[in-house]
Amino acid sequence: MKAAALTGSRTMEIVELPDVGPGPGEVRLHVAYCGICGSDMHEYESAQPFRALGMLQPVMGHEFSGRVVAVGEGVRDVRAGQLVVGNPGPGCGDCPYCIAGRENLCRAGSLGGTGYTQPGAYAEYVTISERAAVVLPDDADAQEAALTEPFAVARHALAQGGYRPDELLVVAGAGPIGLLTVIAARSFGGARIVVSEPLAGRRSAAMEVGASHVVAPAELVQTVYRLSEGAGAEISVDASGLPAGIASCVDATARGGRVVLAGVGDQPFPLDVTRSIINELTYTAVLGYTRQEFIDAAKLIARRQVVVSPVISEVVPVEATPDAFARLSDGRNELRKVLVSPGAG
Ligand SMILES: [Zn+2]
Ligand SMILES: [Zn+2]
Repeated sequence: MKAAALTGSRTMEIVELPDVGPGPGEVRLHVAYCGICGSDMHEYESAQPFRALGMLQPVMGHEFSGRVVAVGEGVRDVRAGQLVVGNPGPGCGDCPYCIAGRENLCRAGSLGGTGYTQPGAYAEYVTISERAAVVLPDDADAQEAALTEPFAVARHALAQGGYRPDELLVVAGAGPIGLLTVIAARSFGGARIVVSEPLAGRRSAAMEVGASHVVAPAELVQTVYRLSEGAGAEISVDASGLPAGIASCVDATARGGRVVLAGVGDQPFPLDVTRSIINELTYTAVLGYTRQEFIDAAKLIARRQVVVSPVISEVVPVEATPDAFARLSDGRNELRKVLVSPGAG
């Protein structure tokens, strides 16, 4: 089968991999769609990708849906032909974090499962554990289902931040995670959502997915103060990973408010401790999602209780994965979520 492998810095190749059946407790999927994630872009752009050093296997892709083609010995609840969305980090199920329902912090580190230590879904087929497979209703949209993983990230960010739907929420950055945070806030019943984003194309996307106010960063504080009688927002989510985005969240957050760090970046952020103390700000960094949050996200999308399709900008075949990475890296700002699909023409 064909797969896209990361073989060096900014170097991807289409490789032919042996077509092996699922082992005991495993499920083999024909990949329907797999989203290109910002974290994959980070690794692609890194001067020394872990995969090129042999620290991780070379096929990325952890945001995927697919049809079951075969199940291994001992698999009980998944059958061939079913539509499935894969949780790349379902946890080991046995460690203290998993027992507490915090599989994102699993001691076995299995959040880095499919697409990290295990071959990912920029490929025709992918094999996952039964525990990782969430079976969807047959009429679910496989394309939208591929956004379950980043949608679960967005829901987890708001849940960890203690978001309540009556609060004024700021989202900094309208890339895929920022857009999905808006959709997630609405799925929790929220309506007062201010998005700050420097790029005009992304601002219109934020409007499309249901933000109540969308502004350029320079207008953020003024807008938030106007909407809150000068108090600021109760909660801000940085979905940019950039120091400027985090700073705008700090500026826009009310005294006693919470700043949620959801965007992964590679630049350090200088924390103003005095100001944080005076305003009694809470900073919450978030990672992934729990297994239950993943299942909830899958259901919301599959039942069309949320519409995530505006986040998708393009579908490309597996063979075009290297080209999609190159384009995202050049002009990623103009693209939203790009999906890789073995079925795309
Ligand atoms: Zn991702
Ligand atoms: Zn565990």
